[in-house]
Amino acid sequence: MSFGGIVMTEISVSKVEQAGVLPTDDQLGFGKIFTDHMFIMDYEEGKGWHSPRIVPYGEFSFLPATIVFHYGQAIFEGMKAFRTSNDQIAVFRANHYLNRFNRSASHLCIPQINVEEVKAGLFQLLELDKAWVPSKLGTSLYIRPFIVSTDGYIGVKVSSTYKLFIILSPVGAYYSNGFNPVSIKVEDKYVRATKGGLGQAKTPANYAMSLNAQAEAHEQGFDQVLWLDAVHRKYVEEVGTMNIFFKINDEIITPELSGSILGGITRQTVLELAQNWGLKTTERQISIEEVYEAHAKGELQEVFGTGTAAVISPVGELSWKGQKININNNQTGEFAKKLFDFVTGVQYGSVPDEFSWMDKV
Ligand code: PMP
Repeated sequence: MSFGGIVMTEISVSKVEQAGVLPTDDQLGFGKIFTDHMFIMDYEEGKGWHSPRIVPYGEFSFLPATIVFHYGQAIFEGMKAFRTSNDQIAVFRANHYLNRFNRSASHLCIPQINVEEVKAGLFQLLELDKAWVPSKLGTSLYIRPFIVSTDGYIGVKVSSTYKLFIILSPVGAYYSNGFNPVSIKVEDKYVRATKGGLGQAKTPANYAMSLNAQAEAHEQGFDQVLWLDAVHRKYVEEVGTMNIFFKINDEIITPELSGSILGGITRQTVLELAQNWGLKTTERQISIEEVYEAHAKGELQEVFGTGTAAVISPVGELSWKGQKININNNQTGEFAKKLFDFVTGVQYGSVPDEFSWMDKV
């Protein structure tokens, strides 16, 4: 069988008896509705990844002793497919996300996947469930690949068996109430990750780690948390589930990928675009004091987060140890808007895909 020129082992397909009812645009939220089918593959030591198949979305059973429930040896990804203005379904930078999946796998002692094989499985699943890709501007089909360790054993060790799943969820527009700046608490009590730990992997532990801080920030009226480095509580890391950018004196600055930060695909896209547009970009350590000082000198022009869900999320307010600063008068900056319009334009087909970001289904 061939998908996008990729020849691979036949994927067995077992279809739902009756297709599900497609949601209307206003029923779409985030991550609650799933399409009719999912992709699964198994791994066994000695045998490798095998038995790629598409089956109806639904429950599956695991023994209570299954190792992933106890020690968290698991990884996931989050990417998106879009219905473009000419009714074509296309995935944004699929290989980048699947390569990151493999990088996460290596941090968790999970066996590598064959990216082209999994991509072919994903694209066959998308072909089958393409009616579920919503069409309204801002909506999309969220793609969640994940791998769990499946040995039925409760000793701490590397599992010898795994399951890979890909599930699909139609999601609503992130900005249903407009492209509004968010208010961010600079976290000085909790930490997310340390160098030498798992911060650069997309693994459940990092998200479990973030819950208390996020809950407290919400209680205090903030939208998200900005993480500082775990050692000095000084250098900016990332924000919620986004990477962070600062525009200071016309220079685009983002924390370097030092081992404790997730290397965002949107982050990479923004860096590439900014360079292409002739702007100076710098990946380096940046302390929160430096950000506040730049603000005091009137040099802090914009702050924004980048991630698959929002694409660009302008930051209107930062609060660090009770000291609040407003960025760009709490207005969306020009550069953030330009980036958002360009990237979403390519995703929905109104801007030509000059960098070949989109893979057509
Ligand atoms: N940091 C974290 C912790 C995240 O979960 C995400 C979302 N994947 C990001 C950054 C942004 O990455 P991307 O642009 O690839 O979505």
